[in-house]
Amino acid sequence: MRTDTGQVFHLEDYKPTDFLIPETHLDFCLRPERTVVRSTLQIKRRNGVAADAPLILDGDELKLVDIRIDGTVLGDNAYVATPDRLEIRGLPENGTFTLEITTEVNPTTNRQLTGLYRSSDVYCTQCEAEGFRRITYFLDRPDMLSVYTVRIEAERSEAPLLLSNGNPKDKGTLTNGRHFAVWHDPHPKPAYLFALVAGDLGVITDTFTTASGRHIDLGIYVEHGKEPRALYAMDALKRSMKWDEDVFGREYDLDVFNVVAVSDFNMGAMENKGLNVFNDKYVLADPDTATDTDYAGIEAVIAHEYFHNWTGNRITCRDWFQLCLKEGLTVYRDHEFSADMRSRAVKRIAEVKGLKAHQFPEDAGPLAHPVRPRQFREINNFYTSTVYEKGSEVVRMIRTILGPDLFRKGMDLYFERHDGDAATIEDFIKVFEDASGEDLSQFALWYDQAGTPNLAITYDYDQATKTFEIEIEQSLKPTPGQTSKKPMHIPVQFALLGAKGRELKPRSAKGGLVKGDVIHLRKRKERFSFSGISERPVPSLLRGFSAPVTLTSELTRSDLAFLARNDGDEVTRWQALTQLLNAKLTSNSKRVRGGKPATIENSSIKLLGEIAFNATLDEAFRALCLSIPSESDIARELGANIDPDAILGSRDALISAVAEAHAEKFAQAYNELEQKGSFKPDAAGAGRRALRNVLLDYLSVAESSSKRAAAQFKNADNMTDRAAALGVLVQRFGDSEATNHALQAFEARFGNDPLVMDKWFVVQAMQPGNGALDKVRELMTHKLFSLDNPNRTRALIGAFSSGNQTGFNRADGRGYKFFAETILTIDKKNPQLAARLLTAMRSWRSFEPVRREHARESLATIAMETGLSADVRDIVERTLA
Ligand SMILES: [Zn+2]
Repeated sequence: MRTDTGQVFHLEDYKPTDFLIPETHLDFCLRPERTVVRSTLQIKRRNGVAADAPLILDGDELKLVDIRIDGTVLGDNAYVATPDRLEIRGLPENGTFTLEITTEVNPTTNRQLTGLYRSSDVYCTQCEAEGFRRITYFLDRPDMLSVYTVRIEAERSEAPLLLSNGNPKDKGTLTNGRHFAVWHDPHPKPAYLFALVAGDLGVITDTFTTASGRHIDLGIYVEHGKEPRALYAMDALKRSMKWDEDVFGREYDLDVFNVVAVSDFNMGAMENKGLNVFNDKYVLADPDTATDTDYAGIEAVIAHEYFHNWTGNRITCRDWFQLCLKEGLTVYRDHEFSADMRSRAVKRIAEVKGLKAHQFPEDAGPLAHPVRPRQFREINNFYTSTVYEKGSEVVRMIRTILGPDLFRKGMDLYFERHDGDAATIEDFIKVFEDASGEDLSQFALWYDQAGTPNLAITYDYDQATKTFEIEIEQSLKPTPGQTSKKPMHIPVQFALLGAKGRELKPRSAKGGLVKGDVIHLRKRKERFSFSGISERPVPSLLRGFSAPVTLTSELTRSDLAFLARNDGDEVTRWQALTQLLNAKLTSNSKRVRGGKPATIENSSIKLLGEIAFNATLDEAFRALCLSIPSESDIARELGANIDPDAILGSRDALISAVAEAHAEKFAQAYNELEQKGSFKPDAAGAGRRALRNVLLDYLSVAESSSKRAAAQFKNADNMTDRAAALGVLVQRFGDSEATNHALQAFEARFGNDPLVMDKWFVVQAMQPGNGALDKVRELMTHKLFSLDNPNRTRALIGAFSSGNQTGFNRADGRGYKFFAETILTIDKKNPQLAARLLTAMRSWRSFEPVRREHARESLATIAMETGLSADVRDIVERTLA
């Protein structure tokens, strides 16, 4: 394990390497406990580099067995090898030579799940960001592009399947029951995209014909017996390939494309060239075992990894500071794909909810960092919501600012100009400037300034001159390392709504820049004046959530209710409703904390009822509106002095009031929405189930009875309805007989299916209140629980710490104490996983003083531990700073 060296890496320090590695040959002799890797590198010193410059290669826990240059074994004086570094001096004068390095690794004991490891008897690799150096010594950095040829040899009975990147070139039988395969990838790539998979797996195959008529063989490899559950992933893959041709003009470039699902995986999936390796959670689905959310997740992740082939693989990052260049852009592309496959508005609202739930708190806390960070201690800790989700928002804003045609022109130029490059954010911005003639230098601040900008908005309507004025003031709070901030270029999409939501078209706009339906805010404070407005309008601002900002606007409750009823843009419509509800939920939470009862006025209840029964709105949208802000949404709105118990009280009071007021009509709708015909994982079916399951929760509250949920659980013919019913039982009826009965039935039926059992662990980890901690402790001793498996650990420990507001953030601090102990245990096995889980405590300073002090003590306990991994050390110190 890499313990912390305290070394900080800076963007400004980037320097190209002294040497190039145009070709890499890898020869793997696979054995579970003793795998021998022989790497043959064609090395070339760059022009202008001194002849005595040493070659320094990266390693991590490596054991060197043999080292040769041009076939000659190196003497002991010619090199220094430690587990994490190999330095060679006295290199051939002309600077061009062949370096052969033999190392030995143990895939079985590798529980960090980076480098080469075994998962359920399958050999697999994970190299991003710095896992390749756990396989062999190398210049392990993204700008070191090399053409790879890989030979894999293994026991045929143990590993009939031998896969690597690129196209298959050769295979054959050896003596002693062993066999081999050779793969060649003609596209130069960085080491983080290398992959190898060997094992005994089942497969489904299909083909895809590209726009230019090339024939691609597709394979998805899964555990034997699970092949039918990979059919949806295959369908999503083919749709992704077609979509990237249609929308971005990008065609696939190898003869084969393989996806392998493994059950032990730190991330969601990995875009290795031609050989994607997936967490099986994002491959396997059928109606009986997967929810609508799982189906949507599979579609999105399959698309995401496939789209990386162009944005990430063909054009990669110069250094890890540029991570958002591939991730933000590819997230944007997968969002657009899902929007085209499903309902665009519903998809966008889900994105906004996700951004606010994960990225906004990151931006507001001690772990805040720019979309492109300028320094890091451990790159694994920067696979964050800011780099991914906010990175995607930045790309979306470029499209909003330039319009779709110039955006596409810029993207085409990016592919044309940088294909085969390791590029930077500056390169990316430049293509859009060149394609459009616009100056995007102020806009580029979005990559450099951390924090969520706030827009304070005031309005003024003058009936006499028929003029409507909007004044916007932007502000951005200090974040770690950035005390003063510059004004940004923020695109605010808008409409001015008259009676019944009719859009009023201004005759002209004066003041700041307005183009079409976009206000371009560029100064700290700007006025925009619209003439020819015949009635006082209600402004609909930030349509489509056109920028990742918060709004402080002087809209009245009745303006917000008007927007919630009439706005033609469903995103702002949902946003207005949320703002109305949040105002009530936060003020009630303060009342409950002060010992007073929550108050609910009839207008909110009436509004939610109207939306619930408005048949002109699609069911998925209605379900989103009826799912009132979550406990953590309310906590985020409050921002400080948070008491999770008071928040729960406030939220439950609103749910009860709405449930009681509409119980009869909700029951009728619940019955009408019952699924007719067989399950289809499409958007329409998912929307109906989502709405019906929200109603189930309201009805269970209104009826104070578990009967309806228990019946739905028993009769459900799909996992979406079954899991939703189980969730209601655990959330609303805790340790009741009905709940325990359902949990037992679920375990009896799905005990052999790890992905389904993850749901069983999650639902129990989320039980509100003080009982949850004992439940979690008890579940850690369950025969199916293991800290070795990231999915299972995330299901129990992750759900508890990041999802269970009242159970985890207990006033007595026992939740934090337990968490600190558990993090220290996980850190010894899998530092990346431990560090990721620990970010659940990033908002600790926003709690009320008693919880805050308990949280600080637990974080300090972790920080005091000696021998912490670099990953956890980095997170805990930044969180406490
Ligand atoms: Zn990605």
